[in-house]
Amino acid sequence: MNRLLGVGVSPGIAVGPALVVEREAAPVFRLLRAADQVEGEVERLTRAVAASRKQLQAIKDRLSRKADVPHAYIFDAHLLMLEDPLLQDRAVAVIREDHVNAEWALHAVSEQLHEMFDGFTDAYFRERSTDLDDVLGRIQLNLGGAPDAPSLSRLPGSFVLVARDLTPSEAADLDWERVLALVVEGGSATDHTSILARSSGVPAAVAVRDATREIPPGAQVVVDGSRGEVVVDPSDAALAAYRAAQEQDRIEDQRLQQTRTLPAVTRDGVSVRLHANVEFPEEAETALLYGAEGIGLFRSEYLLGRSPEWPGEERQVEVYRRLLDQMRPHPVTIRTWDVGADEMAPGGPTSPNPALGERALRLLRRNPGPFRTQMRALLRAGAHGPLRIMLPFVGGPSDLEPALALVAECRAELSEQGKDQGRHVPVGLIIEVPSAAVTADLLASRVDFFSVGTNDLIQYLLAVDRADPRVAPLYEPLHPAVLRVIQEIVRAAGAEGLPVSLCGEMAADPLHALVLLGFGVRELSMSPAAIPRVKEAVRAVTIEAARDAALACLSLPTAREIETMLRHELASALVPAGAFKE
Ligand code: PEP
Ligand code: MG
Repeated sequence: MNRLLGVGVSPGIAVGPALVVEREAAPVFRLLRAADQVEGEVERLTRAVAASRKQLQAIKDRLSRKADVPHAYIFDAHLLMLEDPLLQDRAVAVIREDHVNAEWALHAVSEQLHEMFDGFTDAYFRERSTDLDDVLGRIQLNLGGAPDAPSLSRLPGSFVLVARDLTPSEAADLDWERVLALVVEGGSATDHTSILARSSGVPAAVAVRDATREIPPGAQVVVDGSRGEVVVDPSDAALAAYRAAQEQDRIEDQRLQQTRTLPAVTRDGVSVRLHANVEFPEEAETALLYGAEGIGLFRSEYLLGRSPEWPGEERQVEVYRRLLDQMRPHPVTIRTWDVGADEMAPGGPTSPNPALGERALRLLRRNPGPFRTQMRALLRAGAHGPLRIMLPFVGGPSDLEPALALVAECRAELSEQGKDQGRHVPVGLIIEVPSAAVTADLLASRVDFFSVGTNDLIQYLLAVDRADPRVAPLYEPLHPAVLRVIQEIVRAAGAEGLPVSLCGEMAADPLHALVLLGFGVRELSMSPAAIPRVKEAVRAVTIEAARDAALACLSLPTAREIETMLRHELASALVPAGAFKE
């Protein structure tokens, strides 16, 4: 039995066999094969090598025919590498000795050969390691052509997925139905992979150091996604304890489900709207199941998946209309493309430091087409129900102008074309860049609503990368700077009579949620599964107690002191008495 500790980011307990992912250009799985499958893997490898040989020969022939391309000889080197027994024979030996799949064997041989190449003193030979990558990449690609080749979007069974990291686009495409739990070496609670794990209801632990080395493929693994605990090859006693905890979770879940139809009203009668954050349209059903009274954030960029193309207008209208239908009569807030910060954009990120680079509305200047298409689709879908348009990553009034101009142009265009559009489709923005927070008073008169995006706001305000486990302890939602800024945003919005929502992960923590109520926020949007617990806390508190607690925060110097005070003050003010989970 081996116990690894990371950070729990998606609650629940799961038990199952580990599937370890090593990612090179494409993910490579290490799969154990039964004895009678080994020769099948050798056969796959042989076929992939033969296909690669044919392709390389064809490229070489084509280039040789062009007099002005003198580099056909490079492909001779590639063909020679392909024939080298060091490569194919070794890979076959790995398959036969370790009973693994062809992809993994090739990966293992590649590591050995790279080590050998790196040891050469002659620069010419050292540089050939790039050719080696080309050749191996080609064989991997040809192996991927097998009809049963596993991929992240088509897992070879139900597994606990263990990976160094997953990009958001890989996570978006993941075969979540077959992921029992997720264990990653990188990551943090507010990165998009963790957010997706929560919305898919899959227990997950991140920042689990050396997970891909410590967890053998196929080993039985228990993942406790609340505590961030991963147990490899658990003893019978440990397994029994986890099974009992799993049963407790199920009972608690059932209890919370019963709050679904109860109103989110404080003890002194103040209504709070609890909305859901969703990434996929199919999640609307889950949102309703947990009692969401609207969608406070639809991260539209997930419609892109890993597609190299932006979705067309008609398809988008259909998706948005369907969402409105499913949520009717509740509102649906759709965020325009927030692409560029991670890999969620056709073509991937373009800036060297994407979090501070050409992201979301900043891309509008260079490439307005996709934003225009989306805006038209949103306005058209707005004729079908209460849709709200939300603009991400606005840094201040000057960023807002081109976006609002685009809305006006699209409106005019649609009326000229005689197309239906919503008469009043509110346009709001996410306050997630500190400069927007500081100029909230100037922004408030230009839009219809604010939603505070604390996931990014905290990262930029505190200069703490939200996805880097090394600085995760510094990512403090209760930092005095964060609370003061939220208070100012609410004040600026209030002066203009603007509604303020909060759609960062902070809203999902009952303790934080009550402080937000204390500051005057009346709409909270969160992962659907978090709603019942937050509703329970809302129903147990009075606004007066929440306000006192929020004000008391402002005179304390550190997040730690604020948290201790809140736990003490608020827990004792709750009726029925409730404790906040550590
Ligand atoms: C945020 O930044 O708080 C937010 C809700 O958006 P995302 O997590 O998608 O960046
Ligand atoms: Mg954000």
